Amino acid sequence: MAAASQDGGKPLWGSIVRTVYLNGSYVAEGDATVSIFDRGLMFADAVYEVCSVLDRRIIDKQAHLARLERSLAEMAIAHDVAATGWDDILATLIERNHLIEGTIYIQISRGAADRDFLFPAPGTPPTVFAFTQARSLVANPMADRGMRIITRPDRRWGRRDIKTVQLLYASMMKMEAKAAGVDDVWLVDGDVITEGTSQNACIITRQGHLVTRDLGHHILPGVTRLSLIEIAHKSGITVEERRFTIAEAQGAAEAFVTSASLFVMPVVEIDGLKVGDGLPGIETMALRSAYIEQACGPK
Ligand code: PLP
Repeated sequence: MAAASQDGGKPLWGSIVRTVYLNGSYVAEGDATVSIFDRGLMFADAVYEVCSVLDRRIIDKQAHLARLERSLAEMAIAHDVAATGWDDILATLIERNHLIEGTIYIQISRGAADRDFLFPAPGTPPTVFAFTQARSLVANPMADRGMRIITRPDRRWGRRDIKTVQLLYASMMKMEAKAAGVDDVWLVDGDVITEGTSQNACIITRQGHLVTRDLGHHILPGVTRLSLIEIAHKSGITVEERRFTIAEAQGAAEAFVTSASLFVMPVVEIDGLKVGDGLPGIETMALRSAYIEQACGPK
């Protein structure tokens, strides 16, 4: 493996030059370049993962690596997750970047080949990279005020269960939310909520049941969603994995989203209507605390 470049030039975006991982080497972020023929660039032919780091430790690491393995298998991208030694790579990135709190992004594309809709011949090496982003996750002001959400038609492709880098529609919807002065979009098929642009959507009914969309091709099987369902079961909360409508969510006692970087984040308004009393829900905040406690506690 190549040694990390010591000077590495200027920081690309922040104030420090990060060390990133690219195809077996650790390099300064400015030295990490990929081919213009990479299929990730031309066809969005790539899968990814985002894991959170709290107190230098990766949350739900094995579940993220397992989902990465599944996404690769569904896309028939030949990358052996177990043989690559991701545990060491991620630990090295945390150490070299002095990452205490933030996220790690992993991306694997089908590799570089002359442009053709057909996949390249077997043996084309995938392009594999990972990098860290330092940011505050636990102390997030949005947890105190709650998110305001609007709904928009879900116009993504039909295999939303695979975590591919086709994120243009999600990106456009986040821009639409920003233009509307709200925090994010929940995507809907008709009046049925699928999920958020980059989170799973959940509500707490007036009976105190946690409702979230059932798994299938229509949503990403969120790692945080799964951990939270386990926490809810342990806390004696009834969990219903099923469809729910915009009206049901607006009339719910509480609403929230789950994702690796937001953990459990309260939703206080949907399409201009307050959820509950319009403040972050008590159950939601208890679940957020329980999730963070579990993430920080001994594993
Ligand atoms: N749904 C979508 C569309 C996402 O992009 C994400 C995360 O990026 C999630 C749900 C939440 O998944 P996780 O909890 O694994 O971060």
